[in-house]
Amino acid sequence: MAATYSKVTVLGAGTMGAGIAQVCAQAGSTVVLQDVTQEFADRGMERIRAFLQKGADKGKVTAEDQAATLGRLTTETDRAQACEGAGLVIEAVPENLGLKNGIFRELADVVGGDCVLASNTSSLALSKVFDGVSGPGRCIGMHFFNPVPVMALLELVRTDATSAATIEQVQGYAQELGKEPILVKDSPGFASSRLGVCLGLEAIRMVEADVASPEDIDKAMVLGYRHPMGPLKLTDLVGLDVRLAIADYLRAELDHPGFEAPALMRQMVADGKLGKKSGQGFYTW
Ligand code: NAD
Repeated sequence: MAATYSKVTVLGAGTMGAGIAQVCAQAGSTVVLQDVTQEFADRGMERIRAFLQKGADKGKVTAEDQAATLGRLTTETDRAQACEGAGLVIEAVPENLGLKNGIFRELADVVGGDCVLASNTSSLALSKVFDGVSGPGRCIGMHFFNPVPVMALLELVRTDATSAATIEQVQGYAQELGKEPILVKDSPGFASSRLGVCLGLEAIRMVEADVASPEDIDKAMVLGYRHPMGPLKLTDLVGLDVRLAIADYLRAELDHPGFEAPALMRQMVADGKLGKKSGQGFYTW
């Protein structure tokens, strides 16, 4: 069966862009992966090749699928050219409102009127990302999770203007990508970060109050609630600095004391204890 979108353009060939391009190509779409330099775009392609090879080595991807997927992928540096004729454009450039909004404002006049415009922002208000973009009914948030080819969740974020037709079409495509879509209203932290960060902050407050060791707090959630990983280990993996920034943002936007970052978290970030990436967080890595 043909994919909903015969051509998809992915803007930004970083961690997320490369993963998104891969799953779209695996679903049968022709994909153009765009970045500001050929070197960055090539790096994204390298990441995809390596990921597919790993899948092939484990017997999860057939040699045929591997070749077909790579055959549907090309790179480009010119944005307008990359988006020509696309049915769906997914933006995965750095988390910067001005950058994302500028790209969509420009794109709206370059692509066809029925081309769906999607942003992979993990925290920004979609109403701001798409502010002033013509045809707001076709604009939607497509929040993928890292690593994209592995993670089943796709959080679709609708603004007040997103049309029912756009939502339905993207929900259908999400299934083709092998993802489980959830539909969330454009609100701070969407569904995933709002709940996930809330749990992480409370776990840190429990460490602060010496309720139990980090290991035992995590075990409570893993064994008692069947979470695949405890909230403190997850905070270490995501990065304490990354989660602190999200907590501060949610505290301000939601005006909710539950999102007040614990003093321990601020101190650990100030001390460079950022989690896995720095070698030390609630665990030693
Ligand atoms: P990244 O830094 O790995 O990649 C960003 C890429 O965008 C880089 O290759 C960069 O060269 C490119 N870029 C910069 N300006 C550009 C432009 N004008 N046009 C085209 N490409 C441009 O970042 P990432 O982790 O892939 O994050 C991308 C987006 O996805 C962010 O909005 C982030 O919040 C979101 N996100 C990230 C994760 C994650 O776990 N990393 C998860 C969900 C969502």
